[in-house]
Amino acid sequence: MLPRSAPEPTRRPARGPNPVSSEADAPALPDLGHGRHRPFVLPALPYAEGALAPTISARTMHYHYHRHHAGYVATLNRLLADSLPTDPTLASQSLISIIRSSADNAARTGLFNNAAQVWNHSFYWRCLLPGGGGRPGGAIASAIDRTFGHYATFREHMIGAAVGQFGSGWAWLCVEGDRLTIRRTANARTPVQVPGLTPLLTIDVWEHAYYLDSQNRRADHVTQVVDRLLNWPFVNAILEAHQRALNPVPAQRLAPTGNLPTTTAIHTPRLPAPVPSPAPSWQVADTRAASFARLARRR
Ligand code: MN
Repeated sequence: MLPRSAPEPTRRPARGPNPVSSEADAPALPDLGHGRHRPFVLPALPYAEGALAPTISARTMHYHYHRHHAGYVATLNRLLADSLPTDPTLASQSLISIIRSSADNAARTGLFNNAAQVWNHSFYWRCLLPGGGGRPGGAIASAIDRTFGHYATFREHMIGAAVGQFGSGWAWLCVEGDRLTIRRTANARTPVQVPGLTPLLTIDVWEHAYYLDSQNRRADHVTQVVDRLLNWPFVNAILEAHQRALNPVPAQRLAPTGNLPTTTAIHTPRLPAPVPSPAPSWQVADTRAASFARLARRR
């Protein structure tokens, strides 16, 4: 009988002593489903692969989710396993903490790129909804009116930011304090790198997001996403959590005194003060304001 070969070395999933959700360091954001232990898991798609057709076909969704997103998750887990011997703290960091601690660290470019792309895609899927898009309701409708004056202005600038991102990247609507802000980021970069900047929605403008369906017509793709797919209920849930954190209602402190009815203002977050016009209260993250403005006007 031949001697059995040595067993393949196996990588045991690293389990941090304090398992945390992937969004533990950004409390207004929902848990996106990466799991609390390592390895990080690929969150399930929140709808069927063909649910966003015709704007995003089942074929695009299949490659985007099963190849690109799944690939980022697999690579992230491999890089984490490789890095743990030199940095055991990675075992118990949230995904957002890993993104923040590896950003702009030349020794951890791969870790950053894959961690950020895992988070960005998990968030992006949730930003889309069959039958979504168009004018929102709820808290985001008021916030858009305060910040941009009118939904049509927001729409124009959101589309302009996505179309104007040179090369691969993402367009974002974020909330920072009491202001909405449109950002665009290159490659894997993401607003969750920045504590205090809370993303509300994103549009993937890497070519893999639209090329099978729309080829080079990024503007057509982005316009359809905005008009048909944006998940405003998801946006409202994040914005409302953000506003509660910004303006906590002291219901717990008031109740025991017995001096105020406990129903007063509970779950009614104070709305942020109106942004004075005409100063624009939105901005794009990069400095190519001139080219951005030209693109916005061209539409
Ligand atoms: Mn993508």
